[in-house]
Amino acid sequence: MGAVALEDKRLNEPEIEIPDHVLDEDEFILFDLPSLLDDQGLKAAAKVVITNKRLIRFEAKNEIAVKTAEYELKQIRKIQAQRLVGNGRLNIWVDDQVYCVARYIVDHQPLFSAAERYITRYIEDGKIRPVDAVELDICPTCGRNLPEGSKVCPVCIDTRKILARLWEIIRPHMKMMIGVTLIFWLIAGVELLLPQLQRILIDDILQPQLMDLRFLLIIVGGIALGGLISVGLTIWRGRLMVRLSAQLGKELREMVYTKIHELSLRFIDQRRTGDLMNRISRDTAHIQSFLQNQLPDVVNQTIIFIGIGTILLMTNWKLTLLIMIPAPVVVWITQITWQKIRIMYRRQWRLTDQVNSLLQDILSGIRVVKAFGGEQREIERFSAQTKKFADLASKNERTFNTLYPSLGFIMGLGNFLILLYGGHLVFGRQLTLGELTLFSTYAGKIYQPLRHLVSISRWFHQAMVSSERVFEIMDQSPDVQDRPDPIPLQNMQGEIELKNVTFGYIKHEPVLNNINLTIKAGEMLGLVGHSGAGKTTLINLISRFYDVDEGEILIDGINIKDLSQNELRSQIGVVLQDTFLFSGTVWQNIAYAKPDATPEEIVHAAKIANAHDFIVKFPDGYDTRVGERGQRLSGGERQRIAIARAVLHNPRILILDEATSSVDSQTEKQIQDALQRLIKDRTTIAIAHRLSTLRYADRIMVLDKGRQVELGTHEELMALKGYYYRLVMAQQEMADMEAYK
Ligand code: ADP
Ligand code: MG
Repeated sequence: MGAVALEDKRLNEPEIEIPDHVLDEDEFILFDLPSLLDDQGLKAAAKVVITNKRLIRFEAKNEIAVKTAEYELKQIRKIQAQRLVGNGRLNIWVDDQVYCVARYIVDHQPLFSAAERYITRYIEDGKIRPVDAVELDICPTCGRNLPEGSKVCPVCIDTRKILARLWEIIRPHMKMMIGVTLIFWLIAGVELLLPQLQRILIDDILQPQLMDLRFLLIIVGGIALGGLISVGLTIWRGRLMVRLSAQLGKELREMVYTKIHELSLRFIDQRRTGDLMNRISRDTAHIQSFLQNQLPDVVNQTIIFIGIGTILLMTNWKLTLLIMIPAPVVVWITQITWQKIRIMYRRQWRLTDQVNSLLQDILSGIRVVKAFGGEQREIERFSAQTKKFADLASKNERTFNTLYPSLGFIMGLGNFLILLYGGHLVFGRQLTLGELTLFSTYAGKIYQPLRHLVSISRWFHQAMVSSERVFEIMDQSPDVQDRPDPIPLQNMQGEIELKNVTFGYIKHEPVLNNINLTIKAGEMLGLVGHSGAGKTTLINLISRFYDVDEGEILIDGINIKDLSQNELRSQIGVVLQDTFLFSGTVWQNIAYAKPDATPEEIVHAAKIANAHDFIVKFPDGYDTRVGERGQRLSGGERQRIAIARAVLHNPRILILDEATSSVDSQTEKQIQDALQRLIKDRTTIAIAHRLSTLRYADRIMVLDKGRQVELGTHEELMALKGYYYRLVMAQQEMADMEAYK
């Protein structure tokens, strides 16, 4: 059970250790809330601890925590985290009194609000839940609200640790990186040399008294050659970079994608698909760009800066200092300009996200839109969004196109000073014309690294957040895990045994309660109960998509935790109510169960599934494309393809989860026939709404609110005149009414 506690070093808060003896044996802390202000709003050292039983206030007296107030949770009628100006109060209502139990600083508002929500829910239903910092959307370390869809707090990330891990990622590419850097230095060297040649040209060659064409040729040739070398090297570097970057990006994305496949459904359940997609594509792109551009840039630009600085100092230190005078101003202005630009574009990105999710939403629900004639409304909604986007984008571009050239002018300020003062020196013959040109050229170059270094901090931060988001996934250990030495399954019979199985998607909120059941090999068990009773959950457990909280599940007497997941699932076939087909052909979708199946096997499977006949009627036959999610096929057709898939899979255990619920009775008959053939000789668990489909079941189990209420044959349960009997009767009435129509 995760508790939320603060350890915000930034606030320098006093440590208040809670003495051990205060808490009962079965008492644990849910919230540990710092109350850093007293009644007058002055600094204080106190905290409020909420446990599964009590709310206790502690105050630090001589570094010892003293309990100063305590209330049973059951006594609390209402709780409120009241936001005031610059601080807040935690109020509780006990009997007819209101007590202010904590005064806190405004930074802690999210944390206190979370406690308020938690306790309010508790007051409603009296249930103690796990405190999940993610669910509360606050950072467990500093109590700040987390950015949407993320568990990573941008304030609390440990940069050093992240860099160390990034280092591990780039290490294999070190040779290439060093190569690229060396080439960069060569380019920089050539570029730094060229102004020197220019100076020689102006000072020594272009003298009317010399008029030596040979020297002119040599120097101009040298400048041209330098330019050529620089271009050549730049092209070479570019090519190497592309190779390095493609490789890095591929590795990063593969790393995250592979990991996501290893994780269990429980992890996937908790996240939005979009968030996971962002981590695979956007976050890895940030990291890649950081490793490949910004990180080498820090080194390179610093070196160029030092290089130019040294050359200038050696030529004329007074002029050099002159160049540096505007530097702080330049840095400062660059920084605020970038800040403005950043805010501008962040707004734009957010709007892009909104437009995208609107698009995704509408496109996937386009049938509903058409069915309700909502096209015009949707078009208007979309136009409004895109107009907003276009307005913002053009405003941003306008601002950017004004700011950016202005920035360039400011960068050139140093140059004006040089021309002014340097020109003065030239008049006094203290400086040659060539030296002035040299300085002017270098001054232009020295600001470039400065500009780079300023913008790097932004990239750096973004890369750190992205890395943390990626590492967060990499660090998840799948909660359904294989043993290191799984027991191999030989000739599985298919006997399933559930012993005292209890499970909840959220721990302490069981969806299944103490289920005991043995299904003999080859038996068909029908599973009935209202929707939400836990039927699907039960089969999720048998497939080991989740691990049971208590009890065990045995197959052929072996605990499924001792089997390898792959082997277990290779023996379980599933046909669901809503069949998922991947975009591709009918053929590919059937063959998904067994990629190395022969054509004969596939056609055979389709025949058993009653699918062959309708498939060959398509103009493209087995090569018919099913469309995204199989939308070009009817529900019954999709279902029969799923059955063909299961036939090909040839599992010992078959699970049918409302496999015939979404088809009409004509099609149902065909599917029933197909299923009948499929069920033969396999252990089968069939969940069905229409009880008539369970007429071949050997036994039937009735689940109600996660509890097993009845178990027996159809006749036994009918004789019992209990739950099952009532269900059958209700459906019979329905059937009579249907017949009446
Ligand atoms: P049935 O298949 O009998 O209709 P389910 O087994 O699907 O019922 O669901 C049982 C209960 O578990 C329901 O209250 C449902 O809301 C909840 N539940 C199902 N799947 C999840 C999930 N992935 N995360 C959290 N709760 C879930
Ligand atoms: Mg279900």
